[in-house]
Amino acid sequence: MDVFNQGMYKTELCNKWQETGTCPYGPHCQFAHGLSELRPVIRHPRYKTQVCRMVLSGVTCPYGHRCHFRHSLS
Ligand SMILES: [Zn+2]
Ligand SMILES: [Zn+2]
Repeated sequence: MDVFNQGMYKTELCNKWQETGTCPYGPHCQFAHGLSELRPVIRHPRYKTQVCRMVLSGVTCPYGHRCHFRHSLS
């Protein structure tokens, strides 16, 4: 998973925090601890207007739902 590199900082809720109410990373966690910390995801203006190259070449895209390209050909 590539959640620690590009701009996904605090755009998703922390799994650990949701499950247990605490997180070993504390304030340094890359994920949001509560809705007040959650940031809106800034999408590329052409977000999902083009089909993912990985999918086009028949490969499973490693970005999954985070991919900025479409995963359906229709
Ligand atoms: Zn956390
Ligand atoms: Zn993709």
